[in-house]
Amino acid sequence: MSLSAINLAYLAASLLFLFGLKGLTHPRTAVRGNLLGALGMLLAIVATLLDRRILSYQMILAGFVAGAAVGTILALRIQMTAMPQMVAVLNGFGGGASVLVAGAALVEAVHLPGSPGLQMRIATAASGLIGGLTFWGSLVAFGKLQGVVSERVLTFPGHRAVNLLLAAVAVALGILVVLDPGQVSSYWLLIAAASVIGVLLVLPVGGADMPVVVALLNSYSGLAAAATGFVLSNNVLIIAGSLVGASGLILTGIMCRAMNRSLSNVLFGGGGGGAGGGPADEVYGGKVRSTSADEVAMLLEGARRVVIVPGYGMAVAQAQHPIQDLASALGARDVEVEFGIHPVAGRMPGHMNVLLAEANVPYEQLRDMDEVNPTFQETDVVLVIGANDVVNPVARTDPSSPIAGMPILDVDKARSVVVIKRSLSPGFAGIPNPLFADERTLMLFGDGKKAVLDLVEALKES
Ligand code: NDP
Repeated sequence: MSLSAINLAYLAASLLFLFGLKGLTHPRTAVRGNLLGALGMLLAIVATLLDRRILSYQMILAGFVAGAAVGTILALRIQMTAMPQMVAVLNGFGGGASVLVAGAALVEAVHLPGSPGLQMRIATAASGLIGGLTFWGSLVAFGKLQGVVSERVLTFPGHRAVNLLLAAVAVALGILVVLDPGQVSSYWLLIAAASVIGVLLVLPVGGADMPVVVALLNSYSGLAAAATGFVLSNNVLIIAGSLVGASGLILTGIMCRAMNRSLSNVLFGGGGGGAGGGPADEVYGGKVRSTSADEVAMLLEGARRVVIVPGYGMAVAQAQHPIQDLASALGARDVEVEFGIHPVAGRMPGHMNVLLAEANVPYEQLRDMDEVNPTFQETDVVLVIGANDVVNPVARTDPSSPIAGMPILDVDKARSVVVIKRSLSPGFAGIPNPLFADERTLMLFGDGKKAVLDLVEALKES
């Protein structure tokens, strides 16, 4: 296939990516958007396979089999609740792949006659720096989300100074790669420095700030891929990498706003640890009222408007299908039902939307935080299922709390609140929640799925 035909195919693939992304901005067009993006990727792969300048088919097949084996095993074994870790690891693999491909291209180029061009040298240094940082940063993020590495803020005296020193070393090594690409060892040293920066950058990020870091690393993996696109002079890789980089940055901005953190505060502020909010005994002592499924069913029946607020516990309990049954049962009794979705409910962006879509909850019933918050005062019952931090009023009242200033769903403004969870254990940020001791709140203790199934049953019997 001629070079211009390949570039034409890459251009078509890039357009399909753009239309795909446009489609993904709305649930109604998301399936079509996804298909367009996949079609673009298929086209890019076929064009690459036909570009015999690149690799032998044996090598491609070997890479395909190895990658497919690892991917299939991971996809089959991963629990829905462990998706965020999976996303973190996949970001890391993207960064690692960029480092290796750029490194291989550099090794190949220095063995060919003539020196590699300036574009390639700069792009190789960028790919090594960003890719190495992304790989190790993502592994630490994986460890934190998986509980292998402590979720708490891990730091040491002089942490920032060490980071700055390492950054200076990495920049110096990057300049060496550009000036003297024949010294391939500079490239590997650059990756070593970038790797340590990646680890040290994510270790101090704790608790409630993790989603921002995962989104940022996603953006970095795209930037590393774009840099590798410049190394290989591969247009589709440059465009696809830039799209991932830009969308990851936009998502990072959205997540920062949703948690009321600036990016520098997330990365260097050492926030989100798990202190503050007052001791649990003081917050809950003698004030928590527990309830039964029958009592809640009566409350729901008498309501005109009910808002269901899902959180991470709904994902753990896999309660999305029973929740949809409950919403339908209430709808059949002319109760207005809506779902209030916090942007960082769960453990990854869009976590609740994905689960509720899986259970066929109509998209029209989902309300973003900004839309639903003004309606709580006119809401008879809010049913909180497995959510904790995202409905914790201390975000508004306690400036010393790790979630201080994080916009929350103001469920405490509703006429009554029912919280379904197994115990008074804290959420991800590790702090008590005064909502559970509020005079308008009833606690329905139990596993989320079982509790909702009991509620549906109780509604049927009433
Ligand atoms: P939280 O982590 O604050 O709380 C979840 C609650 O679910 C827990 O208090 C737990 O209580 C309950 N729970 C767990 N299992 C079950 C079960 N089987 N049945 C019923 N309840 C259960 O969740 P939120 O969604 O409110 O908040 C998300 C938090 O995660 C925020 O702090 C956010 O910053 C952070 N985060 C978000 C990410 C994202 O991108 N969305 C990524 C990483 C972190 P109990 O044990 O008593 O049942």
